[in-house]
Amino acid sequence: MAETLNIDQIRADFPVLHQQVNKAPLIYFDNAATTQKPKAVIDALSAYYEQDNANIHRGIHTLAERATTAYELTRKKLAAFLNARSTDQIIFTSGTTAGINLVAQTFGRANVGKGDQIIVSNLEHHSNIVPWQMIAEEKGAEIKVIPVSDAGVLDIEAYKALLNPKVKLVAVNHVSNAIGTINPIVEIISLAHEVGAKVLIDGAQSVAHLAVDVQALDMDFFVFSAHKLFGPTGVGVLYGKRDLLESMPPYQGGGEMIKEVSFAGTTYNELPYKFEAGTPNIADVIAFGAALDYVQAISAEALAAQEEALLAYATQKLQEIPGLRIVGTAPEKIAVISFVIDGVHPQDIGVLLDKFGIAIRTGHHCAQPLMQRYELVGTCRASFAFYNTFEEIDRFVLCLEKTLQMLG
Ligand code: PLP
Repeated sequence: MAETLNIDQIRADFPVLHQQVNKAPLIYFDNAATTQKPKAVIDALSAYYEQDNANIHRGIHTLAERATTAYELTRKKLAAFLNARSTDQIIFTSGTTAGINLVAQTFGRANVGKGDQIIVSNLEHHSNIVPWQMIAEEKGAEIKVIPVSDAGVLDIEAYKALLNPKVKLVAVNHVSNAIGTINPIVEIISLAHEVGAKVLIDGAQSVAHLAVDVQALDMDFFVFSAHKLFGPTGVGVLYGKRDLLESMPPYQGGGEMIKEVSFAGTTYNELPYKFEAGTPNIADVIAFGAALDYVQAISAEALAAQEEALLAYATQKLQEIPGLRIVGTAPEKIAVISFVIDGVHPQDIGVLLDKFGIAIRTGHHCAQPLMQRYELVGTCRASFAFYNTFEEIDRFVLCLEKTLQMLG
């Protein structure tokens, strides 16, 4: 029999979950925006500042060595987590957005020229649209868009028709933050490679839910944020193929990213430091290592089963509410439910649910082109993590019904 999670034990690891909000027990269904942090992560943060705080790489004293070792240990853990060939291919950034901008401003600036094309999808977060628009505008290149069906599935035939040798980069998310669709990235990547295009996969929404093997998936670039994987804010990861990273010019100049500086000319550091200018977010990177340990200690199978069950249960319960329509019904999706209700503004629902201690997200979810495609101002989005429960879903549905009566 498949292993199941001990949810009470897991919830005990997340201090934030044990509080009253507006005189009701908090129900946190905004995990796609950011996940909560286990005690181990919070402890790692304070332990670093209480015992090891020092700047890294440059110091020869004990604290600097401890901090450097702990910081580099997270890089090792990440290389293993993603099955990267080497730790040099793991670059710390401040988040998904920073990773995408780094690739746009280095790979993009060096490889995209006038008349070239960049393909994105209609399902993207603004972070995976705007940096490409900026580089396209600068270079005189064009942005092409993979259309999405009413159900929220990318049109792969249309994608095939867009591919041609002028396409230098395809940038798509692994999982849509707005509606939860899991995109067929294996096919997207291999089709792009057939025309010589490179692919950036935005993994912001996938890393907490799906296993990612960057070598098996033949990823050129993969980016994500620690805070969506139970780690701290302000830390992100860019994985890249070595030859690509080596061929790319540095992004920002400063300390750490150089080998030698002189007015006669500066030489740049090796990977990954070439892309890590300045003092990084040391404490949060170290605490992110604790988050990786935490999630990896949980059975991936049991975690997926819990999330799948929550998704199925909530979908069924929500569909029973008259006038409610789920936006995004792809057969392959993670535990994210976007919905609209006839005649009710999503924001009013969000505000009233908060009065019951329930946190959901309302609005365009930084995916305005998707909202335009569906002719919506926004949706309500409930997104689950493995620490959520069926009882929480019951109370959420009950409070949603009460909310609708109040809005009457
Ligand atoms: N891409 C997707 C799919 C996201 O869901 C998010 C955050 O919601 C981002 C990019 C941006 O992530 P961050 O704000 O951590 O840089």
